[in-house]
Amino acid sequence: MKALQYRAIGQPPEVVDIDTPEPGPGQVRLKVTAAGVCHSDEFIMSLPENEYIYGLPLTLGHEGAGVVDRVGDGVQYIEEGTSMAVYGPWGCGLCYECSSGRENYCRNAAKFGIVPPGLGAPGAMAEYLIVDSPRHLLPLGDLDPVQNVSLTDAGLTPYHAIKGSLEKLPSGATAVVIGVGGLGHVAVQILRAMTAATVVALDIDEAKLNLATDVGAHYTFPSEPGAVDLVRDLTGGRGVDALFDFVTNQATLDMGQAMVGSQGDQVLVGVGAGTLPVGLGATSAWETSIRAPYWGSRSELFEVLDLARGEGINVHTEVFSLDEAPAAYEKLKNNQLLGRAVVVP
Ligand code: NAD
Ligand code: ZN
Repeated sequence: MKALQYRAIGQPPEVVDIDTPEPGPGQVRLKVTAAGVCHSDEFIMSLPENEYIYGLPLTLGHEGAGVVDRVGDGVQYIEEGTSMAVYGPWGCGLCYECSSGRENYCRNAAKFGIVPPGLGAPGAMAEYLIVDSPRHLLPLGDLDPVQNVSLTDAGLTPYHAIKGSLEKLPSGATAVVIGVGGLGHVAVQILRAMTAATVVALDIDEAKLNLATDVGAHYTFPSEPGAVDLVRDLTGGRGVDALFDFVTNQATLDMGQAMVGSQGDQVLVGVGAGTLPVGLGATSAWETSIRAPYWGSRSELFEVLDLARGEGINVHTEVFSLDEAPAAYEKLKNNQLLGRAVVVP
């Protein structure tokens, strides 16, 4: 089968021919219908050799959807031909966190070497994908896989981040999204669907700010230090109640810290290299909470899919074939994508 693999440190990913995998006991094989291109892929491919821990060659794709094609021994209750979304942050299924669906924080993942598809295990940028357990599949039902595959990360991650701040976002509150890319443009929609807050979006790129307006942001501003006063003015000087940073370089962290008001949340979702000083006398407003969430829980992915059915969360997609996938990554790297690139093998 064809697959998109990261094969050598610092080199662009390549389309290669590899053996079609067979599902082992307890596993499910999907015929992939769609796979999303995430900035985290670009991040791991930018790592130097001594920091790269994902194995080579790595079949990319941690946002996956597919149709059940074959099941391994012992797999029950799952019908061939069912259209599924893949829950990516695989865990052991046995520990306390996994038992409450929070496999993204599995206690045993490191011990057992459990890694997500596309971030260690072979991912969804291929004609077929092996899913380690039916537990990691959610029926898509009527949702179109190409339009919705990115809800598995670009939807789930902001959903989880925002859910943790809902009590800070009653009507009259202000929420800020920094970085209106794949995750950020879905974050704006989730905020509009789940809160009555005023939603402000910041980005360095005008096309992204226009997309933010199209998907429901009340205000947009260029992401630069001057935005601090503009946003503070919008809140009558009080500051922002919850801020979601999908960039987290030093500039956005500093800007965010200066915008968030007392008892507000500064939520760090990006994997940028900035850091924040914390503590009494640090520059945050009183009683600010800072969180750095990772992906989301299984039950939250059910909730995101339901939200998409009900509220019409629309991922803005640019579609590429598997042969075109290297070009999608090139566009991602150059910040030339709007919304999410989706690969259809
Ligand atoms: P993306 O490339 O689609 O979007 C990034 C956006 O940020 C772009 O619109 C870009 O113009 C904008 N941007 C860049 N510099 C900026 C700045 N200084 N100020 C404001 N905007 C700026 O990326 P994505 O796929 O949406 O991922 C966003 C981040 O989230 C990445 O760092 C990714 O690795 C990370 N991520 C984290 C998790 C998690 O679980 N914590 C999950 C998925 C992705
Ligand atoms: Zn991701």
